[in-house]
Amino acid sequence: MNHQTIDDRNTALTIEDFAALRENLHEQRLFRREQLQQLSAEANADADAVPERQGAAHIEVRVRLAASARMVLTDVEAALDRMDQGRYGACHLCRGPIARERLMIVPQARYCARCQQVREAYR
Ligand SMILES: [Zn+2]
Repeated sequence: MNHQTIDDRNTALTIEDFAALRENLHEQRLFRREQLQQLSAEANADADAVPERQGAAHIEVRVRLAASARMVLTDVEAALDRMDQGRYGACHLCRGPIARERLMIVPQARYCARCQQVREAYR
């Protein structure tokens, strides 16, 4: 088996696709890391500056932002790991290929569109 070729008719990711997806993931990782840094810097600044009541709402928004940024960052890093291990683009549930169009929109996707829908329906 040639590792350069992803043998899957449905996914059909080319080497160029991989390069573009990897770059996209790297950018997202950088962006999320910076976002998290900024959020924690703001948290430190607020601890001194913002009055108690105003601070609570402020902090809640930031906590949510940080939580979602961390979640995306985890997904992005996992996707980069999968790329390094040559397992990128396969659905975690059904092991089927994740459609190319889907990966182009959500490069860190773990599930194919069908499995994602099933998961969301049972949430
Ligand atoms: Zn699936």
